[in-house]
Amino acid sequence: MTHLVAKKKPAVFLDRDGTIIELKSYLRSLDEIKLLPQAAKGLKILQDAGYLLIVITNQSGVARGYFSEEFVQEANIKISELFAAQDVSIDAFYYCPHHPDYGNDKYRQDCDCRKPEIGMIKKAVFDFSIDLSNSWVIGDNVPDVRMAINANIKSVLVKTGYGQEVLANYPKDLKVPDIVTNDIYDAAKLITSRNGESR
Ligand SMILES: [Mg+2]
Ligand SMILES: [Zn+2]
Repeated sequence: MTHLVAKKKPAVFLDRDGTIIELKSYLRSLDEIKLLPQAAKGLKILQDAGYLLIVITNQSGVARGYFSEEFVQEANIKISELFAAQDVSIDAFYYCPHHPDYGNDKYRQDCDCRKPEIGMIKKAVFDFSIDLSNSWVIGDNVPDVRMAINANIKSVLVKTGYGQEVLANYPKDLKVPDIVTNDIYDAAKLITSRNGESR
């Protein structure tokens, strides 16, 4: 018997709100979903360069009772349809519906998936064959950068969403991201131009 072992692919772990879609404080209706300008162009560059596109998002609005888990799933389907219309296919969405202080027994917990914890990355690594050493995290907020550091993955902070605010009040204890850039499109260009560079 021979075994074909899938070649590991690098991934970009994409934050959702403020990174690939417009930031709304607790998005509650599908009509509010707007892709950020050039987000599809950026993801297309990454996809064509061989990166898996994996969305990793904290959705504590579920624990807080602002919307249901079903709504998060519907929103993710809508987002993947909007990207598909521009020839981009998102490989997977992972979300954390929990919060340590809010919600019923199901959702109020110190889980291991809420960013900056790395449970969602671990789940993705279980589901896909991922080359973590060449993977990236792209996000607009502190937990995204912290998760990247906790998982020992390179990070990009984009200035969309909360990005500008984060840069203005950057936590003293936090290592600077590998790349700080305007948006996901610029991030894609910079990541692909670094291809092959060792860490
Ligand atoms: Mg965000
Ligand atoms: Zn969680």
